[in-house]
Parts: sequence; structure tokens; C-alpha cells
Amino acid sequence: MKDAGQTSLWEATAPKARERPALAGTQRAHVAVIGAGYTGLSAALHLAEAGIDVAVIDTHEPGWGASGRNGGQVIAGLKYDPDKLERMFGRRGAALVEAVGAAPDLVFDLIRRYQIRCEPVRNGWLQLAVSERTLKQVTSRAKQWQARGAAVRVLTGPEAAALSGSALYLGGLLDARGGTVQPLCYARGLADAAEDVGARIFHASPCTRLSRAHYGWFVETPGGSLAARTVILATNAYSGPIWPELRRSVVPVPSFQIASDPLPQSLRRAILPGGQSVSDTRRLLRYFRQDPEGRLVMGARGSFGQVPPEQAMQLHLKAVREIFPEAAGLGFPYRWGGHVAMTSDHMPHLHELAPGLLAGLGYNGRGVAMATMIGRMLAAWAGGTPGQALPFPTTALKAINLHDFAQLGARVAVRYLRLRDAMDR
Ligand SMILES: Cc1cc2nc3c(=O)[nH]c(=O)nc-3n(C[C@H](O)[C@H](O)[C@H](O)COP(=O)(O)OP(=O)(O)OC[C@H]3O[C@@H](n4cnc5c(N)ncnc54)[C@H](O)[C@@H]3O)c2cc1C
Repeated sequence: MKDAGQTSLWEATAPKARERPALAGTQRAHVAVIGAGYTGLSAALHLAEAGIDVAVIDTHEPGWGASGRNGGQVIAGLKYDPDKLERMFGRRGAALVEAVGAAPDLVFDLIRRYQIRCEPVRNGWLQLAVSERTLKQVTSRAKQWQARGAAVRVLTGPEAAALSGSALYLGGLLDARGGTVQPLCYARGLADAAEDVGARIFHASPCTRLSRAHYGWFVETPGGSLAARTVILATNAYSGPIWPELRRSVVPVPSFQIASDPLPQSLRRAILPGGQSVSDTRRLLRYFRQDPEGRLVMGARGSFGQVPPEQAMQLHLKAVREIFPEAAGLGFPYRWGGHVAMTSDHMPHLHELAPGLLAGLGYNGRGVAMATMIGRMLAAWAGGTPGQALPFPTTALKAINLHDFAQLGARVAVRYLRLRDAMDR
């Protein structure tokens, strides 16, 4: 399933996926979903639950994209803090904050209701500060969520050290709403659940052309086609030429992870003994967790552009040495990566690209919970809820200016951000 030279921990530890056919012949559906990651699968599941006939196609298979490759950290909230979101979105702000805060509940509720076997752990998410400046931000963030009744608390330096097992951090927050999943199993579990309540899912069925028809839309793949009243485009960072402006509305940023052999018991007890996951506050974010077998999973963003996996590997091993020097000698047999869809305003986007053609994308690295939530909103929208009634604003599509250069610019930006991170220390 994966790219050459990569060995994904999630791929190696997931049970085999269900066999599914490719799309063949001409079929009809009320809603066609293009892309079987969390966005498309959550949309399909919620549509099927509502009794709406839905068919999903993917170029590869469910979870092939970011949904099967990510860190599995289930995180509440977006880049912007609740106060700012409320200022930004006016009357809609409170509902939006509530929706982003409740996104982990939706994930763990689906897992429970559909008995999805994806190693769910809900011991919380740590955001740990690497500088006085970011400690202030994290403290303010925690207080803003507390003011809204969320189970988020500020951590002192010693508390952060005890919970993370690292001496690197000045403090942070513990957000009890968060947790972890085995991300590929979660994606496959959503697919199975959607299928079990009536959705049709097709493997190996890339949409090669999307055109208007008198009844709605015509979705073409090499082996067959789908006639649908409404189409949901859920291709996110892997968006291609079928709707070029959508592809140009996000910048796909590579993110890599490595995973160790199971830690010896002494390290297993010292590193993240409470079973939380961590993201730090570096501009070039690092994130880590253990899996249920005690493997240390370390991820980082910042390897923009076509960084050879070996170079990414070295950057990650350096992160391990800095954060957990005692784990530096471990073997790291797993290494893999994927693309995170970044937006210019750091917000996920919901669009109606044309009548009956909907899209949701751009989670900026917070998609396990948010894509599941946006998928549910897309289902409601496709099912007849007016766009204005959704908790998230629907916006006009805006291509990022000079998109190809934006990626080049991102490479320059990364060097600059790396330097700023070094200065923060
Ligand atoms: C390395 C990495 C680590 C991350 N870590 C975290 C984390 O710990 N926590 C978190 O919240 N978020 C994380 N994210 C982000 C999260 O994984 C994504 O936001 C989320 O998975 C997006 O889901 P999606 O369904 O929108 O897109 P995807 O899962 O990328 O799915 C898009 C699908 O569209 C399909 N597709 C594309 N074009 C076509 C076509 N023409 N026809 C048919 N199918 C098509 C692709 O094959 C793909 O399966 C991470 C991302 C990466 C890459």
C-alpha cells in the first residue's frame, strides 16, 4: 500500500483490510464521496446512518492517505484559541468552539458505538512548551478552555517532566479530552462501519473526471462511473487535477515519523508513564507517543519539499536524542511519512465548489478529530442541512497565490523556522 522505502508501523501492526471491489459499470448513488480518509469515511458513515444512499471511491483504499499514516493523536481545538475563534467568527464563534472542542468525543463515541478495534486510549494530550514565550501561550490556552468547562489544566515544569519523562520542557497543558488511536485501524474501522450501515466503498477507483449532468454529477474512473446528485470531494492533501483550484487551496507539507523497537521496561515506565501523547510548541512541531507495545513513535514536521527519507530519519533521531537521551541507542525499524494539508489562514475549510459539489479539507495537522467532525458536517450538508446552519463557516474557495512557489517558499521558511526554534532554546 505504501511508498517505496517506507515501513509504516501502522501498516505493519494493522490486521488485513477487508477486500473490496473496484467500481465497475455505471452505478447511481444519491451522494458520491471521492476520497476514503477520515473526512470521506465519516461523511459516508453519517450519510448511511441517515438512510442516504452513498458510494465512496478511493484511488487506493481506505486510509491510504494521511488518515493511515498520521501520529494517531486525537486532539481537541485548532491553531487559534477559543477567545480568538469567537472574535473571528462573531455569532457563529461559540458553536464553532464547541464543535472543535467536542471533536475527540465524536471519535471515541464512534469507536465505542461501532466497536472499532483501533487501540483507543483516552489518557489526554500534552502540549509542552519549549520557551517562556510559548509557555505563556499554552497557559492562556488552558485557561480559555477551562473557562468553557473543558478538562484542561496547566502543568508546571516538574509536572511536565514527570508526565513526559523528558527534562526538556518548561511546562505545558494536559487536555483530558485527547487520546490516541492506531490511525490506520481507525480509518479501516470507519470504512467497515460505513459499509455495515449501507455505504458502498470501492478500492482502486481513482476519479479521473468529474462533470456536471442534468441530475447532478458524473464521476468517472477507469473501470466504471457513478451518477450522483451530490458529490463530496474529500481528497485533502492528496487532491489532484480533477478540481485544480481545490488542489491549489492547500499546501501539502510532508511530515515523517519513526518508531522504535518496544522499549525496555525501565524506559517504558520512564517515558510517558501516563499514556498521554505529546505535541511540543516548536514552530517546526515535534510530536510523540508510545504504541500499546511500548514502541516510541516520534514525528516531526519541517521536512518540506522532497527531503530524502534518510535525511528525515537523521532529523528524527536527533529529536529523540534531545528529548529522551536515554533512548538514543534504540533501534528504529519503522519510518514513514505523508502529507499534511496546510491552509493560508490555518483553518479547515468547507466549500460548495459548485451546486451539489461539496468539499472539506485543510486540517493543518489536526485531522484525526477534526476531519471526523467535518465529515459529519459534510454529511449533514449533503443531506439537506443549509450551509448557514452548520457550526463551521462555509467559505468561497481561494487558491493560494502562486501555489507552486508557495511550496518552494515553504522550504525557505522551514530553514528560517528551524533557526528561530534554535534561538528559542
Ligand atoms: C505524518 C502525519 C502525521 C499526522 N499526525 C496527526 C496527528 O497525530 N493528529 C491529528 O489530528 N492529525 C494528524 N495528521 C493530519 C491527519 O492525518 C489528516 O488531517 C487527516 O487524516 C485528513 O483526512 P482526510 O480524509 O481529509 O484526507 P486523507 O486521509 O489524506 O484522504 C484523502 C484520500 O483521497 C484519495 N484520493 C485523492 N485523489 C483521489 C481521486 N482522484 N480519486 C479517488 N480518491 C482520491 C487518496 O487516495 C486518499 O486516500 C497527520 C498527518 C500526517 C501526514
